Amino acid sequence: MTTKAYLDDSYTMNFSATVLSCMEAGEQFHLILDKTYFYPEGGGQPTDIGSIGGIDTFDVRHHQNEIIHITNAPIKPGAKVECQVNRTVRMDYSSQHTGQHLLSAVLDKSYGAATVGFHLTKDNLTIDIDRTLTNEDYLNIERSVNSLIRENRKMLVHYPDTEDLESYSLRKTPKVRKDIRLVEIEGYDTVPCGGTHLNRTGEVGSFKIRKIDKYKSGQRISFCCAKRATDLSILEHETVTSFITKLSAPLEELPQSLDAILDRIDQMNRKLIEFEMKAIDSMAAAALEEATTIHDMPFVSFWFEDLSQNAFKALLSTVTEGTDGLIVAANFDDGSGQLIIHTGNFSSRVNAKELMKRLQSTYDLKGGGSPQRAQGGTKDIKELSRAFEAAKRILADG
Ligand SMILES: [Zn+2]
Repeated sequence: MTTKAYLDDSYTMNFSATVLSCMEAGEQFHLILDKTYFYPEGGGQPTDIGSIGGIDTFDVRHHQNEIIHITNAPIKPGAKVECQVNRTVRMDYSSQHTGQHLLSAVLDKSYGAATVGFHLTKDNLTIDIDRTLTNEDYLNIERSVNSLIRENRKMLVHYPDTEDLESYSLRKTPKVRKDIRLVEIEGYDTVPCGGTHLNRTGEVGSFKIRKIDKYKSGQRISFCCAKRATDLSILEHETVTSFITKLSAPLEELPQSLDAILDRIDQMNRKLIEFEMKAIDSMAAAALEEATTIHDMPFVSFWFEDLSQNAFKALLSTVTEGTDGLIVAANFDDGSGQLIIHTGNFSSRVNAKELMKRLQSTYDLKGGGSPQRAQGGTKDIKELSRAFEAAKRILADG
């Protein structure tokens, strides 16, 4: 059986081992070593990667009582091999995982919130908790976790026997009663855990909460530690600096400056809508003036770009009031276009729904309607233009 050396030493990355077996599994090979410092995926922490005898191992897993190292090439059983755990990946996972202990401990101690889920990947780190906390709570939690980091407490590992287990005050009840490994933030928090950790809390360096989402009846906390937290701080700093420059406002006044700009945009939008509505009457009059007839039916068509949806609707309604004939209208605004076919009183001669269906067999238009009015939508302005012209042509051809 493999000695799980990573349980007692999270820092050894280079070691010698003997290959006990090498099993072919499809195009892969499963190696078992006499001892390993490779952490096998489990408990929310991803697998270590690295090399064994110069061959890449990209996945390490528990399999029954063994630990298998997965490679793309075989190594002869009995061979003594030099192994290397990828230090960057391991130190990152150990740092994030240690930070998770600190966060879960603070949540439990200060808010009675239990950690019910833990997910760590190369890009993300989250825990799920069983209750809802406020933004102010999270500011305090961030401060408390960073205090624990500065206190530089030891991260201790214990292997209590069944009788000793009762003497520990545990945040989480262990799933088994023997061969238990406990991880303690010295004098603060103890939980059963089989992952890799840093030796002291100070090595986590820094801790940042990224965002809070609702999750079931509680919340999901996205956070980051160590280099990931530094990278996030740099990104935040660059973003804020760019806002300071663009808004010509000092840091302390950024929120008010942004609010003022958003207010101004809101006012401008209102004015724009007012202006559009005023312009609609003259636009409708112009469209009606250019009305023609098709097979003795009055016919109006108009094409617009950049008319807001509300304005287009209002224009259509005004034009409809001004004619009892056929209307073909299109508008493309903000990446989305709409074609309207209105046949009104002439729906027994021209069925708008059938005409739209016919257009849909050739053009990418989504929608439908009634014999009196049908509409089709598309994200492609060229497609809208082609369908608009085709609708007019079909009506003219009768
Ligand atoms: Zn742990």
